[in-house]
Amino acid sequence: MSGSHQTESSGSKPASTSEERTRQIIQKIGQVTGAQIDYKITDDKGSPSASVDKEGKVQLSKEYLEGATDDDIAFTVAHEVAHHGNQHYKKSEVVIDEMAEKLKVAIKTAPGFIGKTVVAVAWSVTGLLKTRGLSREQELEADGDALDIMERAGYDSRKAEENLSTELGHGSRGIIRELLSTHPTGRERVENLRKKRGTRGV
Ligand SMILES: [Zn+2]
Repeated sequence: MSGSHQTESSGSKPASTSEERTRQIIQKIGQVTGAQIDYKITDDKGSPSASVDKEGKVQLSKEYLEGATDDDIAFTVAHEVAHHGNQHYKKSEVVIDEMAEKLKVAIKTAPGFIGKTVVAVAWSVTGLLKTRGLSREQELEADGDALDIMERAGYDSRKAEENLSTELGHGSRGIIRELLSTHPTGRERVENLRKKRGTRGV
């Protein structure tokens, strides 16, 4: 054992650059949206790059932040903030509750075991398609709003498009996954952003 690779770490670690960068970006996004953004950076493996909870707290994965540019992070944070601002979580919950209620009534009124089974399957598929449609709609809405927010905060929204475009390169999704997916494809998202930019002539 030579010990030549040993490095002494000082006691108190300064915030990593990705954390400090993120703090500054979130502050800027908060300034233009007029909201104090509560956030948390997680080190958990397998957690998504970014998400937002019911209360509007944004969670970002450390792994994602370390590989992302400022424009990427600004778009991602703005996207999550837009989900919360548009009350997407609440709207989804309402739709899911409604579907569950309709399913209950349908099963109750359907005649016989076979009838109940057919009705249950039909309503489950309807519910799946409906929530899938809603979720896709919400993703595209959040993307569109994120574009505005990041621009107002001084970031380059064209980078968001590039970012989504490169995501397209990460393997194609199977047809079944595609049908069941609640998320629009990268291509849909890019087209949505182009359309949005086109209508503004930017
Ligand atoms: Zn989203």
